[in-house]
Amino acid sequence: METTLMILKPDAAERNLVGSILARIEASGLKIARLEMIRLTPERARKFYHVHEGKPFIDDLVAYMSRGTVVVGALEGEDAITRWRELMGATNPANAAPGTIRKDFAVDIQTNTVHGSDSPASAAEEIPYFFPKPL
Ligand code: UDP
Ligand code: MG
Repeated sequence: METTLMILKPDAAERNLVGSILARIEASGLKIARLEMIRLTPERARKFYHVHEGKPFIDDLVAYMSRGTVVVGALEGEDAITRWRELMGATNPANAAPGTIRKDFAVDIQTNTVHGSDSPASAAEEIPYFFPKPL
């Protein structure tokens, strides 16, 4: 049993894609264990993406992530980290496999609609960043 962090980035709610994406998650068998709609401050978005500090895209990424409502959630299941990454598809939608969320919904390499932890270590850091207390 594994848990991973999901974020539906601002373009998801902006384009009324929240329900469609959550439906894909549930259809895959992953359990939505936590779910909340919030607005990230630029500071909180930058801290969340600290591993990308110094990269050329970080300022635009922070502006994107803080421009509107995001949906943060925790997804639970066997191999949840890998399964959620597979449902998401590649970072750049141009390279994403058919049927993935990013292939079907993402705008471009930045505005790619969804986030998922990429390893057990990142999940262990990212889940408590948004869900510090048990239900
Ligand atoms: N990103 C970007 N330009 C790039 C690479 C990434 O704007 O060249 C953004 C994009 O929103 C991506 C996020 O930065 O989802 C984090 O990048 P990462 O490489 O961790 O991709 P992910 O894990 O989200 O697939
Ligand atoms: Mg990443």
